[in-house]
Amino acid sequence: MAKEEKLKMFCYQCSQTARGTGCTVKGVCGKEATVARLQDNLLLATKGMAAYLYHARELGYTDPEIDAFVERAFYSTFTNVNFDAEDFVHLAIEAGEMNLRTMKLLKKAHIETYGEPKPTEVQTGTVKGRGIIATGHGLKALGALLEQTQGTEINVYTHSELLPAHGYPGLKKYKHLVGNLGRAWFDQKQLFSKYPVAILGTSNCVLIPREEYRERMFTTGPARLPGVQHIAGYDYTPVIEKARSLPVLDEKPGDVLLTTGFSKSIVLSLGEKIKQLVETGKIRHFFLVGGCDSPLKKAGYFREFVQRLPQDTVVLTLACGKFRINDLDLGDIEGVPRLIDLGQCNDSIVAIEIADGLAQLFGVGINDLPLTLILSWMEQKAVAILWSLLALGVKGIYLGPILPAWVNDDILKVLRENYDLRLISSPEEDIKQILSG
Ligand code: SF4
Ligand code: SF4
Repeated sequence: MAKEEKLKMFCYQCSQTARGTGCTVKGVCGKEATVARLQDNLLLATKGMAAYLYHARELGYTDPEIDAFVERAFYSTFTNVNFDAEDFVHLAIEAGEMNLRTMKLLKKAHIETYGEPKPTEVQTGTVKGRGIIATGHGLKALGALLEQTQGTEINVYTHSELLPAHGYPGLKKYKHLVGNLGRAWFDQKQLFSKYPVAILGTSNCVLIPREEYRERMFTTGPARLPGVQHIAGYDYTPVIEKARSLPVLDEKPGDVLLTTGFSKSIVLSLGEKIKQLVETGKIRHFFLVGGCDSPLKKAGYFREFVQRLPQDTVVLTLACGKFRINDLDLGDIEGVPRLIDLGQCNDSIVAIEIADGLAQLFGVGINDLPLTLILSWMEQKAVAILWSLLALGVKGIYLGPILPAWVNDDILKVLRENYDLRLISSPEEDIKQILSG
């Protein structure tokens, strides 16, 4: 798992920077490469947390302790403030703890605003009529769009990380929320070209649009795209007017029906049943297979991993990594579904609370449960979540598709020795190693 280091570090945040272009070996200020990389790590985790905080704040939920940590984290990376590598590891753990707090805050905001999700089947085809596709993570934006499109005969479809919206009672009550089109964020150019509908990007993971749909795309909230109309606030009249001017979609049912919306209460209500199935050997192991997906070829690992799993295993999934596997029919084990979609990436908190609930039920610690986490990462929210899991002491996580580029051998050593963090190898070998462990 050793890495080749071409660039030891990169920092150009002050005027002392080497050759006026960037410190790449060691800081002119004396900052060591590992400290620079741990600073980057902290900033990346804090960015991920900021996204969750943003969506909690837009629903009216804030926490001054988290805000205070964000200030402290940013300040610690300032020039000539903190040169202590060990302290940056502690700050990363603290970022993980704060991200747990942030994900809890956002979950509370989502549940108190839209109700606790319930398992819901979602169509993947088109319904006759005009349409709008909403993509991203913004439930508030989607809620406002659904309210404003009521009675207009315009159908609303979700894409990517908005699929879990279908499970929330306060959103699924809108009959014109008719389905989900496409898969993870990186199919959007092809998808948005294919369907002549208006498009609303509600958060991150929007891509610079192709010319052919630029004028029917809109952004809101934190998202901005060149040449795309941005809507500040939540009045989506321009999106609705655009949708009205576009052709009617044909009725074309999709090939698969997706199921989303498993909440903590729903899964833990099966707790006794799950315990009995584990004790009688009918469920051998649980896997959490999910996280942020990316178009890297190596990410094909996650689908193959699930396809190769034996029938006596259960897979929990979340975030857009779910689209690698959520079309698979894994069946059930005496009524317990073998594929359980917990929601968006921030619903990692639901997975953690479920693991905690099961650990209590079995009278063991989380690391003693027959549970292994197989995480895919793409961007900064996944970094925040990884540190949340490490902050909880979760060991033996398999991470892919690649090792984060800012992790050098020193950092890797800490992650391996303290947390037994592993990089994915091949599905076959990893499954063998996990199930024989
Ligand atoms: S803070 Fe240090 S490492 Fe960064 S640019 Fe300035 S001198 Fe270089
Ligand atoms: S889960 Fe991650 S990669 Fe996927 S859409 Fe959300 S932020 Fe982007």
